[in-house]
Amino acid sequence: MKELKKIRYWIFDLDNTLYSATTNVFGKIDKKMCEFIMENLNVSKEEALKIKNDYFHSHGTTLNGLMKKHKIDAHHFLEFVHDIDYDFLKKNPELNEEIQKLPGEKIIFTNGSKKHAERVIERLGVKNNFKKIFDIVDCDFIPKPEIEPYQKLVKKFNIICENSIFIEDIARNLEPAHNMGMKTAWIESDDPYCKKGFDGNHIHYIVKNLTDFLKQTNKFIGQ
Ligand SMILES: [Mg+2]
Repeated sequence: MKELKKIRYWIFDLDNTLYSATTNVFGKIDKKMCEFIMENLNVSKEEALKIKNDYFHSHGTTLNGLMKKHKIDAHHFLEFVHDIDYDFLKKNPELNEEIQKLPGEKIIFTNGSKKHAERVIERLGVKNNFKKIFDIVDCDFIPKPEIEPYQKLVKKFNIICENSIFIEDIARNLEPAHNMGMKTAWIESDDPYCKKGFDGNHIHYIVKNLTDFLKQTNKFIGQ
């Protein structure tokens, strides 16, 4: 863990990274995406589900596919799909404490929207740590793992890659970060989509529990 001593930019993915995938926030958003597709493309529930999944896999995000193939208004989509109940996300004071202790800047880098990110970090009680959020609008709707959003992120916040770590649950999203010189930590997952490529050399740390990992990190870098 000695290279973590020089980390000054702690870059976090949002969904299924700052909170556990078992909370199924994504399941709720997925449902809203299907509703949106049914209404806007005038298709059945089954077709909507298929379109949602196909675009997610072929275009990185469902939104990206909808924009390219159907000229869907991105802001309208984001507003609609993130209109969910966030009540089941619980405060995580332990996580907050560990994030607070990390030296340097803490940044969120998400394929979702800023509004969604703000709601999530508010519910988790970790909001004060994150002055910087880089969302899908900042990415010009080009999602991770395309290289462009990583380059834009680094440029926008003057990030020094050698002093950065990126923490995320989709293994292949860590590859561009590694290629740019960042350290990477993968939030372990059984989901085949998240797992793909997890055994590659672009993964530097495998994280079972984010709070525990940060606790260990803080302990180590404080020595
Ligand atoms: Mg994620």
